[in-house]
Amino acid sequence: MRTFFRYALLITFLPSLLYPCQKDGLLHIFVLNVGQGDATLILAPDNTTFLIDAGDNGLGASVVLPFLQGLGIMSLKYVIATHYDSDHIGGLDEVLNVIGSGIEKVYDKGDARNSKSSTLAYRRYVTATGNKRSKIPLGQLYHNDSFSITCIAVDGAILNSTTVPLDAEDENSASVVLLVSFKDFAYYTGGDLTGGGPSGSKKTRDVESRAAVAVGDVDAMKLNHHGSITSTNSTLLNVLRPEVVLISIGNGGKNQSGFHHPSQEVLARLFAFKGLQAIYQTNLGESLRNYSAEDYKLVRIANGHLKLETDGASYAINGETFPDDQHSIRSATSALTYAASQAIKYAPLIAKR
Ligand SMILES: [Zn+2]
Repeated sequence: MRTFFRYALLITFLPSLLYPCQKDGLLHIFVLNVGQGDATLILAPDNTTFLIDAGDNGLGASVVLPFLQGLGIMSLKYVIATHYDSDHIGGLDEVLNVIGSGIEKVYDKGDARNSKSSTLAYRRYVTATGNKRSKIPLGQLYHNDSFSITCIAVDGAILNSTTVPLDAEDENSASVVLLVSFKDFAYYTGGDLTGGGPSGSKKTRDVESRAAVAVGDVDAMKLNHHGSITSTNSTLLNVLRPEVVLISIGNGGKNQSGFHHPSQEVLARLFAFKGLQAIYQTNLGESLRNYSAEDYKLVRIANGHLKLETDGASYAINGETFPDDQHSIRSATSALTYAASQAIKYAPLIAKR
């Protein structure tokens, strides 16, 4: 019996031990559970590693590093900081100071030119990244065979589109947006990018609508800004047409930081969106209890990391499989046609925060 258990344990843990050393030809995307914040690890089919953000101060050491080490990842090829809020860059220095030597490039949105420049998180990030930092260029960052990672937007500038003018303090709106593609699979991730919400005096800049057109149809997307009311406007949903959305979110009534994520307005938009098959959340956050049971069939609360893997056609998240969606509107051109056919209007660029 004992021997049996020992073998059972070995069989259970063997795949994860072999993960990094043995190319499995799959694309792996891990949205790590850093509570209120963001940290995504991408392991390309050729085993190239990309780390996008690393959670708030302390989470780099307590969550991201142990996760990387658990996979046997001792160096990262590319590190990307989407913007300079501490729930995104706070943990990066902790990761970089331990496994920074192998890093080829650190991409971000350029030097902070606002109040973020004086935060401890930013100063530590700048020190830890040293001369490896550079502003992320729009366009393809990396490709190998049928895998690619493309920068769609940064600091209001958008691939194949006009720039959305931002104020210096529009930190979220300046987020780096990335499109990850592998064969017929596409994934969107955009930091805390804003889409014009909420209405009234707290209105944000609508960068989402223009970025959406440069992205086109995807399979899965991580919601911008942890499902906040500032983001995930209907144009973004209608152009990206995701089958699955992922939300990186804290737990508890106010998500430990006084934020009300995910927004009930965004959830209602998701529940009404045809074709959506699942909403994956790292934690419960403030998902409401008074939606219909039918709506809640879509919601999966992981209470942990979200692990997506794909062979470039179908994909699985935390073990649940989703089929290839055939990508009826993949290219930017067809997305533009789609946007026009649906009479999608850009929100005025003058919208104030
Ligand atoms: Zn954030």
